[in-house]
Amino acid sequence: MKKLAFVDQKTCVACGVCMKACPKGAISIYRGCYAAVEEGKCVGCGLCAKACPAGCITVKERSEVK
Ligand code: SF4
Ligand code: SF4
Repeated sequence: MKKLAFVDQKTCVACGVCMKACPKGAISIYRGCYAAVEEGKCVGCGLCAKACPAGCITVKERSEVK
């Protein structure tokens, strides 16, 4: 099962670090409020989660993300 990055929108501070770290261009900052992952582009590599200074990204199995 492919994995997917999941952003905790409550703790995200919209710094944009994850957006720069993502090799697939899968992350954008939604209305300046929080990071949003485009499911179709994310390959679950986890680089965004490592880069996030607030620790608010987790990479999960797609079946877990609802
Ligand atoms: S897991 Fe990888 S591909 Fe998916 S959003 Fe994060 S950096 Fe981008
Ligand atoms: S690096 Fe973390 S805090 Fe910054 S925009 Fe991405 S998810 Fe939000």
